[in-house]
Amino acid sequence: MGIIKNCKRIVIKIGTSTLTYQNGSLNLRRIELLTRAVSDFKNAGHEVVMVSSGAVGAGFARLNMNAYPQTLEEKQACAAVGQGQLIKIYDSFFSVYGHTVAQILMTKDVVDDKTRLEHIKNTFFTLLNMGCVPVVNENDSVSCEGIEFGGNDTLSAYVAIACEADIIINLSDIDGLYNKDPRKFDDAVLIDRVEKIDDTIRSYAGGAGTARGTGGMIAKINAASIANDYGIPMLIVNGENPCVLYDILDGKHVGTYFAARKD
Ligand code: GLU
Repeated sequence: MGIIKNCKRIVIKIGTSTLTYQNGSLNLRRIELLTRAVSDFKNAGHEVVMVSSGAVGAGFARLNMNAYPQTLEEKQACAAVGQGQLIKIYDSFFSVYGHTVAQILMTKDVVDDKTRLEHIKNTFFTLLNMGCVPVVNENDSVSCEGIEFGGNDTLSAYVAIACEADIIINLSDIDGLYNKDPRKFDDAVLIDRVEKIDDTIRSYAGGAGTARGTGGMIAKINAASIANDYGIPMLIVNGENPCVLYDILDGKHVGTYFAARKD
């Protein structure tokens, strides 16, 4: 039986390495496939909140910089340029399929403060009632520490909690969690279900992600752990081909499923 059959509200997280080419430019083919699949989720009766990275990468490409930004100031400036590009592309693709995007840019103090959290929850619920697809990113240009959430994997967990989602689908650049690094070991085995995140599971995660993304597997496991504690499961799948979302919609088993504690 498909894992999303009973999931009304879905958070879909998509990372920079999936959304952009190595030079930072937006991978339009992927974004188009992604928006079409998300539109089909909507048409099938699901509510979708997207957590999308790619602002810094898109800004870097648009500004024709020689090297990927390293300083906080450069990253914040790139995000200011790129976020507009990103939401423009989402808006134009989603419009083709008759769906409306709503940009939400978050900072950590929003989830740390009870009153502000209440406001953002109300905004999510209102937008979802209106039939919109909220597209969330960290407000990188004003975040005090740059990436306060520790990256968009963590952000996706807080967003899922705030909007009371039933599941997070994390579109990654790898098929899921392996018991060792599949890029180094041919005999690495994909783990299809994690009941409990413990030291063994964490030890499978290895190091950081790609040069353009921030996450890596450990960030995804940490995000799954935060969400699982709130009763929200997380599925990690490979977003290289966004049509994987159709497999999920069709009830096929793909990726690694982190079961929530209250499952
Ligand atoms: N917020 C960053 C961006 O949009 C990405 C953070 C991340 O990849 O985790 O570029």
